[in-house]
Amino acid sequence: MLGLGIESTAHTFSCAVLEKNGKKGKILSDVRKIYRPPDGEGIHPREASRHHIENSSTVLSDCLHEAGIKIQDLDLVSYAAGPGLGPCLRVGAVVARSLASYYKIPIYPVNHAIGHIELGKLLTGAQNPLVLLVSGGHTMLLAFLNKQWRVFGETLDITLGQLLDQFGRSIGFASPCGKNIEDLAATSTNYVSLPYSVKGNDVSFSGLLSATKSVSSKSKPDACFSLQETAFAMISEAVERALSFTRKKELMVVGGVAANKRLSEMLQDVCKRHNAKFFVVPLKFAGDCGSQICWTGLLESQVKKGAPLENTFVTQSWRLDTVKIDY
Ligand code: AMP
Ligand code: MG
Repeated sequence: MLGLGIESTAHTFSCAVLEKNGKKGKILSDVRKIYRPPDGEGIHPREASRHHIENSSTVLSDCLHEAGIKIQDLDLVSYAAGPGLGPCLRVGAVVARSLASYYKIPIYPVNHAIGHIELGKLLTGAQNPLVLLVSGGHTMLLAFLNKQWRVFGETLDITLGQLLDQFGRSIGFASPCGKNIEDLAATSTNYVSLPYSVKGNDVSFSGLLSATKSVSSKSKPDACFSLQETAFAMISEAVERALSFTRKKELMVVGGVAANKRLSEMLQDVCKRHNAKFFVVPLKFAGDCGSQICWTGLLESQVKKGAPLENTFVTQSWRLDTVKIDY
């Protein structure tokens, strides 16, 4: 089966074509254009959606060209229907709906967070992992039980990606800032004490953000280093508790922040202590991309018919723990 997946939840507009053969999936193409706000500023939803509209037709045609297929060859089209920024989500939905109605292709609305997890499982081979989803929109610890992903722990305020991006912007980086912070952190080993806040299975980052901003006036590298050490230690503590409680023997890290080497290093230590296998999604597919949406659409097509066009909504706050998974 051949699927097209469209991602447009926030900064990225991406289209991907995947081929599914039984349980195997092959990425034939994955093309992306990323909206970059001016230095020091966050995503402006209307500007991001304008970027997506302007780039959508080129991304789509490049993606089909790279995969060596025509629209008529597709068995389905899927799009990220939420969670995300309304104006951005609508661009992907409109593109998907137009293709589905004009070419009579079945259409599948997909939950973006489930997309991160399913592509992670395909690419890492993890079978029944405890999942750490750390991105711009999510910070969650998840375990699968009775056809649904259950939230074991999550952030009580901002996400790990927002913590890094908001801090990075305050010292002049352009969003997304995770990689810049990682690089600057590697130039320091001087730990400055910062607030550490784990509450039960949950974490809270807003106090840490304010405190790190004040440290940065003395030394930006020390602030970056201390921020990473503190935030990742908090995450590691929550993961360690979740591994003990759920007795899972696998940990899989997905989402844009999964690209961070120091985070992986700390989580690998946790896994060693708990005799659990460690999986991290490959760097290229850690952030938002069409492949995540395409693969999830292809999985859904095993058990569901495409959605009627009048039900192809977008839902800005669609939580992944409300999605029933039957495949
Ligand atoms: P996503 O929403 O899944 O596309 O993830 C985007 C988030 O990943 C942003 O907050 C980025 O700052 C963050 N990110 C990307 N690369 C890195 C990195 N190397 N270290 C930490 N965070 C990163
Ligand atoms: Mg994401």
